[in-house]
Amino acid sequence: MGIVARILDLIYPKRCIFCDEILESENTSFFCDECIKKAKFIGTSRCEKCGKSLKKDYKLCDDCKYTLHFYDEGRSLLSYSEDVKNVVLGLKQREKLGLAHSIGKLMADFFRREITWEVDAITAVPMHFKDFDKRGFNQSELIAKEFSRAMGIAFNKDILIKVKNTEHQKSLDRNHRLKNLVDAFRADKVDAFENILLIDDVYTTGATIDACSKALIDAGYKKIYFLTFASASSDNKK
Ligand SMILES: [Zn+2]
Ligand SMILES: [Zn+2]
Repeated sequence: MGIVARILDLIYPKRCIFCDEILESENTSFFCDECIKKAKFIGTSRCEKCGKSLKKDYKLCDDCKYTLHFYDEGRSLLSYSEDVKNVVLGLKQREKLGLAHSIGKLMADFFRREITWEVDAITAVPMHFKDFDKRGFNQSELIAKEFSRAMGIAFNKDILIKVKNTEHQKSLDRNHRLKNLVDAFRADKVDAFENILLIDDVYTTGATIDACSKALIDAGYKKIYFLTFASASSDNKK
């Protein structure tokens, strides 16, 4: 390791994504030995559309069987768990900004290893400017920027914006979420880009990713993919 890398290592040590423990600089997993055992990485038994973990021999999860999604395909690294929940909360705290960087790098490693989609540009699920002003940053954008740096694929913030300040989604069911999100996003077509990769922290019902995808398709983009750190489990889960 070079001297600069050594110094950077001392100032910004690599930390476990789940428990924040400082890791050896040689660690390439971003998890400590204990936490990597708890991490529920989604394997090959997964929904062909949304990427959620499934029981063997199922091709689509119940949701994708009955719901028309606007995106082409999506993948997530992990299934939801208590540890993931803590990570998602941590991502919203200013003092844990390094976490988004580690997750961005981890997602880039995963993409390189497992995904063959042709992607022209990366964008993040945007926040409304009022929410952005309140928090001061968009955690999905931080992940997406780090991912873009690691992958060498353009990040473009302006192709997708949130024009409507929507009601908090958590307490709503899927139909209400969708209704709430109609016209919440607006996309602008950039001539050089056809296929877009959307980055977010968690995929739950897909309502947000669908609303973003619909806006992108309406603007003239061809294929929309998504990649998230984690996804909520499906009904016919492992
Ligand atoms: Zn750990
Ligand atoms: Zn699915």
